[in-house]
Amino acid sequence: MIITIDGPAGAGKSTVSRALASRLGYRYLDTGAMYRAVTLVSLETGEDPLVVAAGDVWATRVLDPALRSDAVDAAVSSVSCLPAVREALRGAQRDFLAQGDAVAEGRDIGSVVWPQAELKVWLDASPDERRRRRAAERGAEAGETALERDRQDAAQMIVPDDSVRVDTEGLAIDEVIESIVQLVEERA
Ligand code: C5P
Repeated sequence: MIITIDGPAGAGKSTVSRALASRLGYRYLDTGAMYRAVTLVSLETGEDPLVVAAGDVWATRVLDPALRSDAVDAAVSSVSCLPAVREALRGAQRDFLAQGDAVAEGRDIGSVVWPQAELKVWLDASPDERRRRRAAERGAEAGETALERDRQDAAQMIVPDDSVRVDTEGLAIDEVIESIVQLVEERA
């Protein structure tokens, strides 16, 4: 089964997706890390992001702690809006998902990358809550950057018609995971 977890920055996608994949024994695909890795390599080398995305060096950096730097946060939206970058990364994402059971998180996975997914979740929370969460993790400025990034990413954030909206506001992470596991069981 393919489960997609899309939604804005700070909604809790990474924590929820990782925990869900581990609970189900599924593979985990962090598509934000792919856009971040292309951005990081482009910042480091000065190469055009289109050239970076077409190559394979970025793939060696998807676990690099520098992906979460302020510099990457600030630049990633201007890279992810380039159609040729999106096409290259969507191809890699589809290759991964074609191999079977996975939880994939991002912005456009249930809508564009894998619309045939068996379960599509749109994870959300109010802007205030999302700002608070990022600020608690990474400082006040990161809270503001997350909301700014959402504005820049608006065109990539496509809510699938057949998605289930899960509002994480005020919920403990375990409660969110339980509610998604229940949806998985209903569809299995
Ligand atoms: O999920 P995360 O915050 O790590 O994503 C980083 C950036 O990658 C987003 O701000 C967005 O610009 C881009 N992204 C995207 N499409 C996806 C996943 C991430 O455009 N499916």
